[in-house]
Amino acid sequence: MTSPQGRAFAVMLAVFGEMEAEAIRARVRAARAQILKDGRWPGGGIPYGYQSVPNPNGPGRVLAQDQERIGWLAGAVAKALSGETVNAIAAWLTDSEAPLPARRTERTSGSGSWNRQTVDGLLRNPVLAGMTPHNPGRAKSAKRVDPFAVLLDERGQPVISRALAIITTEEFATLQRLLAARTVPQARKKAERQSTSAFLSRVARCDECAVYLCRGTNQKRPVLYCPKCRQTIGRTALDAYLIERLLIERADQLVGDLDVAEAWARAGHDDMARRAVLVSQLDRLAIRRGVVGRYFDEERVLLTWSSCRQHPRA
Ligand SMILES: [Zn+2]
Repeated sequence: MTSPQGRAFAVMLAVFGEMEAEAIRARVRAARAQILKDGRWPGGGIPYGYQSVPNPNGPGRVLAQDQERIGWLAGAVAKALSGETVNAIAAWLTDSEAPLPARRTERTSGSGSWNRQTVDGLLRNPVLAGMTPHNPGRAKSAKRVDPFAVLLDERGQPVISRALAIITTEEFATLQRLLAARTVPQARKKAERQSTSAFLSRVARCDECAVYLCRGTNQKRPVLYCPKCRQTIGRTALDAYLIERLLIERADQLVGDLDVAEAWARAGHDDMARRAVLVSQLDRLAIRRGVVGRYFDEERVLLTWSSCRQHPRA
């Protein structure tokens, strides 16, 4: 290695080694892609509520629902969709002695309790809607499943296994929105509060009856309901949805001297101040009847922003 020839030789060896390593990586990627395309299980951590079973249609293994655990998973998802916090769901699973994920039992043997990270991970896994997590560009070390990186078909649509799904892709999107809203400090505070906040007081109307929806509770959960036709919509998901759209779509619009993002930050937890920010941007907010009506569904929200006033800095 001390002569120029020796160093050149070492460089050549390194180059060949790198070429071979890249060829191996490419073969592994191609094999994995083919396995996923065949609907088979490529190995790795099996999500809670599922198990791998021999593929009935060929070689390898496929994922299937684990009948011992799928009910607990479905229960956790239903609770999350109805607005319960991840901590409350973890406590419920622990109190009901739901079987823990296999790997956790080994690692934390003796504790026997669920924690919020585990529950949070379950609720973010695309397998809930029968989709396959797939993110070819991402390092394997990524801590958490990215709920929006899933296996797509030739038309760019998610590949969905009906045998695995316990909710629809729309419900899955709603669930992710709820989880994301809780990571915003103000939204978390609001979601955990049981009171009927004034945030949407005299703001949303019933699409059918044209009257303002009233604040109330249904099974201790905050709702808006129409005093005429009695249609009801859950507040937890609706508030989170409206706040998200307001802060994303209207962040640069003006409220007095401030833009929406600043005005919202200044409003803090003051419901009337937050209401004022929302109302300043609204042209129309109406709620229409849900088809099934059990879960929040963004199709029910008819929202038009007022015509734009551009921020001078924008
Ligand atoms: Zn009505």
